[in-house]
Amino acid sequence: MNACRTWSLLALVCLFVSFTGCDNNRTAVASGSVSGASGAATPATQPVEPSQPPPAQAPLVKPAGQVLRVDPARAWLYVKEILAFGPRWDGSKGQEKLGQYLHAKLKNDQAEEDAFVAETPAGKIPMRNIVAKFPGTKDGIIVLGSHIDTNYPLRKTSFVGANDGAATTALLLAIADQLRGKKLEGYSVWLAFFDGEESIPTNQPGDLSWSDPESLYGSRHLAQKWEKDGTNKKIKAFFLLDMIGDKDLDILRDSNSTPWLLDLVEQAARRLGYQSYFFQYSSTVSGDDHLPFKDCGVPVADIIDLDYGYNGAFHHSVEDTIDKISPKSLQVTGDVVLEAIRLLNARP
Ligand code: ZN
Repeated sequence: MNACRTWSLLALVCLFVSFTGCDNNRTAVASGSVSGASGAATPATQPVEPSQPPPAQAPLVKPAGQVLRVDPARAWLYVKEILAFGPRWDGSKGQEKLGQYLHAKLKNDQAEEDAFVAETPAGKIPMRNIVAKFPGTKDGIIVLGSHIDTNYPLRKTSFVGANDGAATTALLLAIADQLRGKKLEGYSVWLAFFDGEESIPTNQPGDLSWSDPESLYGSRHLAQKWEKDGTNKKIKAFFLLDMIGDKDLDILRDSNSTPWLLDLVEQAARRLGYQSYFFQYSSTVSGDDHLPFKDCGVPVADIIDLDYGYNGAFHHSVEDTIDKISPKSLQVTGDVVLEAIRLLNARP
C-alpha cells in the first residue's frame, strides 16, 4: 500500500493519476477526486477531525436475508498458514506457494485465475489475480477484495506482512467458508485476491518510496478486464479490505470511497455494536486497490486501518508480525462487511 497514505491533516500529499483506462466521467457516484490533490503531509500522532459531518443516523431496520458471520478461529488459522510461506513478494517462492494454497482452499468453488505479465521497472513479472464466485439469487455482484502480495522493496528483509497482506487474504478465505454450499439469498458475492498491489519501483531494496503507476498491477488489470466484458456495470458494491488485523482496530473513513456505501458500513457496524472501531477519523486513501474500480464508476469502500503502531510505525516495517494483530479484529471487520452485504440485499 501507499506509504504516502498517512492520515495527513490538510490533504494528501500523493499525486494520483488514473491509469485504469476507464472513463472517469462515470465516477459521479463516488466522492472526492483522485487527481490533482496536493498539500503538505503532516504525519499525525492523533486522529484528525472528520472531513465531513458523520452520516445521518439511519433507522435500525431489520433487513431480510441470511445472517452470515466469520469464524475468527478459522481466519486466524489461515493467517498462520499464510505466514508460514514467509515473504510473498511477486516473484518469490512464498508467493508461488500462496497461489497454490489459495487454489487448494478454493478447489470446490468457482475459482478463476486472471493471469497476466506485469511490465514493471524491475522487468516483466508474471502475476495472477484469483476470483472466487459465489452465485446469488439476485441480479448483481458484490465484490470483496484483498491484496495477496507483500511489500517488494522490503524483499531483502524478514518482512512477512501479517497485517499488510496475510490478514485480509485469510479473512477472505474465512468468508468463503461462510458462503460455500449455501444458496445465497441476494446478490452474487465474488472474492477477489489481487496480486501486485505493492509498489515495484526502480529503487533499491529498502527504499520505500511509492509510485502510483508502479503499483496496483492486479486491480488495474482486473478493472480493465471487467470494464471490457461489462462486469463493472453489474457490481453493486466493491469492498476492499486492507490492514484490518491491527489489535488496536480503528478503521478510517476514506474520502476516496463512495459516501453512501461508507454510510451503509457504518450502519452495519452500529447494528453489531462495533461502531467504535469505525470512522473515528477521516483521511484520503490514495494508491489502493479500490481506485481502479472507482475510476470505472463502481461504488467502492476501502475498509482500512492505517493507524498501525505508534504513528504508523508497523506499516511497511519488519514489525508487521502476527503479535500485532488479533482474531477479534478480523472478526469485527468480517462480520461488519457481511452485515453490510445483508443490508445491501435488503435494499429495493
Ligand atoms: Zn503495503
